Amino acid sequence: MPWSRCLAPVLPSLSRRSRCEEPSDSEPPTQRPPRVVVVGAGLTGCLTAALLRRSLPQLELQVWERATYPSGRFGAGLAFEGHWLDLGAQVLSLIEVDSGHPNAGADGHNLQSSDLCSAWEEVQKMVSQSFLHRVPDDMLAATEERMKYTGLWAHFWCHQGFGALQRRYLAEARAELRHGRVDAVADGTLVITKRPSGQVLREEADLVILAVPAPEVLRVTGPGRWPAVAAALERIRYDRRSAVGVALDHALLLPVADAFAGAAEMSLDLPQYVEADDKVHLIAWQNVKRMECHGVSSTSIPHGDPILLVVHSTTSEPNFHLSDALKAVSQVLGVPSSLVEGLVLKSKMVDWTSCQMVQPLESIPTNLRVEEPCLQHGRVIVAGDFWSQSSFLGCFCSAKAAVRCAVTNLEAKEVMPEEARAELNVNGSICLDLDLEFIERHFL
Ligand SMILES: Cc1cc2nc3c(=O)[nH]c(=O)nc-3n(C[C@H](O)[C@H](O)[C@H](O)COP(=O)(O)OP(=O)(O)OC[C@H]3O[C@@H](n4cnc5c(N)ncnc54)[C@H](O)[C@@H]3O)c2cc1C
Repeated sequence: MPWSRCLAPVLPSLSRRSRCEEPSDSEPPTQRPPRVVVVGAGLTGCLTAALLRRSLPQLELQVWERATYPSGRFGAGLAFEGHWLDLGAQVLSLIEVDSGHPNAGADGHNLQSSDLCSAWEEVQKMVSQSFLHRVPDDMLAATEERMKYTGLWAHFWCHQGFGALQRRYLAEARAELRHGRVDAVADGTLVITKRPSGQVLREEADLVILAVPAPEVLRVTGPGRWPAVAAALERIRYDRRSAVGVALDHALLLPVADAFAGAAEMSLDLPQYVEADDKVHLIAWQNVKRMECHGVSSTSIPHGDPILLVVHSTTSEPNFHLSDALKAVSQVLGVPSSLVEGLVLKSKMVDWTSCQMVQPLESIPTNLRVEEPCLQHGRVIVAGDFWSQSSFLGCFCSAKAAVRCAVTNLEAKEVMPEEARAELNVNGSICLDLDLEFIERHFL
């Protein structure tokens, strides 16, 4: 039953219990939509907000993001003269469930088959709208990350850049996007510090959905609050990578086109590039990602358009700089580095300290019984790629699970038992403590 029908009757009944009086017919029951706050406007947060809106159209929804735009490891980028360079993920990856491969779409890695199918449908819808574009495997680097096993993984580009995908989900969510860093989260309460003023705000919500990397979950929930959860989250490990986006003068088009030879990526830590700089893992040519989406070949990039490259460091390189990226570019182009340096129009570097998971939750021996890629504790739900895997698929499935949890929780208020506190077992994992005092304080 949707919350809008089920929540309204329960609140007056709680009111009656607390005040020992019957409601009069002339007093309409107090009704207000549940208020949910999502922390983090990365891919998981934006997806969660959009999927929540699909399930609960009347919801009051707010998203807090510490950066100045919806970004994170998927949506972060460099905007330059109307062009976009993806600084995090270079492709959107998920399982091609209808490929006929025996493992495509099977349950596993903490993911449910039905969610894998929903993710595929979601992406196919955006392909049919020409918002996403499937990448031919031969245009991608031969890196292990691309998991080129026919019939399993499929990769997509967004012709406007992945920042546009997150903005699209936020627009669908009709969420109020607020900028500020959430410093503390405790059962339905958030403390936020606004930058740069330093103003400290306090927000209350019926549910808070944390969609930030595991170390940040630990930071905002504070030490010792959830010992079992903390013990597991502390052991999740990410690799670290730096990304440098660089817009170069159009004069470099021909050497770049020669070096990429029809591909969009080259991986430099493969044996064929032993002479290239070993600090660099991948170079991705952004113009091609945009042009291919429009069916135009790389050599027909409009005259004067900047050449847009993104360079990812290897995971073992903690001290990576623009100069390292330019050195590698000059090596693969066969052009003096002083020339490349002189043709830089704009650059931006991001140090992804929590990049992609190398030790996800599923690989950690823990007492936590997590059967879904999310976890709920009181009025806090924790979602993110770290419950399963660092990919669009991992984020989508976690967002789906978080929305299931949220809907169950909001609807549970209707069937709240007479006892003062009920311990419900959500998803067979964590006990949910429904706080009647909180509800009376905030709803009645
Ligand atoms: C280099 C790299 C390559 C990748 N390659 C691929 C690929 O090929 N295919 C693929 O599908 N995926 C890839 N990924 C993985 C994918 O990008 C991630 O799995 C995904 O972006 C994780 O999203 P998230 O929303 O869970 O976390 P994040 O992207 O980390 O988002 C968290 C958001 O929360 C915000 N935030 C954090 N703390 C706070 C706070 N206290 N208050 C307010 N806001 C806060 C952050 O600013 C951020 O916007 C790659 C990632 C990287 C970095």
